Amino acid sequence: MTLREHNYWLTTTQMPGTDASRPLPARVDVAVIGAGFTGLSAARTLAKRGAKVAVLESETIGWGASSRNGGMVLTGMKLGVNQLISMYGRERTQRMYAASLDTIDCVEQIIREEAIDCDFSRCGHLEVACKQKHFDDYARQAEVIAREFNHQLRVVQRDQLSSEIGSGIYYGGMVDEVSAGLNPARYVAGLGRAAMKAGAEIFEHTNVESLQRESSQSESGWKITTSRGVLWARDVFVGTSGYTGRATPALQKKLIPIGSFIITTQTLPEALAHELSPRNRMIYDSKNYLYYYRLTPDRRMLFGGRAAFFPETDQTIRRSAEILRRGMIDVYPQLRDTKVEYVWGGTLDFAFDIMPHAGQIDGMYYAVGYAGHGVAMATYQGQKMAELIDGRKPAGDKPENPFVGIPFPGAPLGLYNGRPWFLPFAGMWYKFLDWVS
Ligand SMILES: Cc1cc2nc3c(=O)[nH]c(=O)nc-3n(C[C@H](O)[C@H](O)[C@H](O)COP(=O)(O)OP(=O)(O)OC[C@H]3O[C@@H](n4cnc5c(N)ncnc54)[C@H](O)[C@@H]3O)c2cc1C
Repeated sequence: MTLREHNYWLTTTQMPGTDASRPLPARVDVAVIGAGFTGLSAARTLAKRGAKVAVLESETIGWGASSRNGGMVLTGMKLGVNQLISMYGRERTQRMYAASLDTIDCVEQIIREEAIDCDFSRCGHLEVACKQKHFDDYARQAEVIAREFNHQLRVVQRDQLSSEIGSGIYYGGMVDEVSAGLNPARYVAGLGRAAMKAGAEIFEHTNVESLQRESSQSESGWKITTSRGVLWARDVFVGTSGYTGRATPALQKKLIPIGSFIITTQTLPEALAHELSPRNRMIYDSKNYLYYYRLTPDRRMLFGGRAAFFPETDQTIRRSAEILRRGMIDVYPQLRDTKVEYVWGGTLDFAFDIMPHAGQIDGMYYAVGYAGHGVAMATYQGQKMAELIDGRKPAGDKPENPFVGIPFPGAPLGLYNGRPWFLPFAGMWYKFLDWVS
């Protein structure tokens, strides 16, 4: 098969259909913008609690990062634990770390409850060290995580690493057995079906163009203008992640959209797949400009990275295929003659402090900023924010979400209007950091 510029995961599933002729409702309790993990998880929870929910999606269900990612369901956050403690103090960091472990349970529970067939497996993740000093830091991190968060990571010495990975280029590794893997396209399709089964209505090809807060004496709410007409909502929840645009300018200014790209090979012989990843881990390396990789359930090597920093276009996708193939062969020379069959890209969202953020901005609810850790965190934030939105009703438990209320910084000196002119410089900066650190 020749190389296809197409998302491999989409060849493994059918997205749920929606009725394109159905008119928008005049009024709903909550309008959810974006039909990815965040929006669909929120819609499912809200609808189960009896809210009238419309999910507005400019493309199709799962069209954004949610169907395009590596399917790694990861514990922890992008920032290291020492940095988190220095930013938020021990108590808040402890709650954040505990929440990051809960995110995996949250995904597992939804998959079980909704019987989503998405190859979910608690296979654990492996981080591999590209330099000796990165490896030296693993023991320190594992010690802090065990002491502060009561969570065990296993440090793997270089001479033991072949039990984890069939590559000789790394200085050692660190394993977290709690992380998991899944097929993201099947998962987001299942979440979509679950949201609809709970009573949420999903409107595809419905771009939200503007949002206006309106209030009268009796009630307040939102007038939402879409490409298919106007509707009214008591509350708005924004889950647009790396695709956040002009309809929500205050949020757009706080997020940097960054491209990430993936290749998958042809199906590998069983023995070779086992040699490359004997325990079938979700793997990523210790660089800023990192590679992440795993076997797919049908034994392809899926290899991803920030080959180009800009969001995906035909050009960045084509260029990435070759860059990533070379990266994959550096890690696994065994794949030199293996065909790459698929390449695609997607857009991640980074906040300026590389943290997830959730709460209210300009009166609307949002959850964003997953920085490549969104499979688990987006699902969790969707659910938690739905509980918060629904919290105005007297019944129900007290929702607890340690990411609500943390400072949400904008660009330094306010030098950003949502168009990331600095990305080539950021890319060069990260490559420089990888070289020196
Ligand atoms: C290549 C790649 C690999 C990744 N790998 C991993 C991984 O292995 N593990 C991990 O944890 N995370 C990974 N991530 C990140 C993860 O996929 C995302 O964090 C997560 O999918 C975000 O989900 P979401 O629902 O918030 O956003 P998305 O899935 O991006 O959905 C946002 C949706 O909003 C819609 N939208 C935007 N504006 C509007 C509007 N005005 N009106 C209507 N709709 C609108 C978009 O069309 C889009 O469908 C990866 C991301 C990429 C791109």
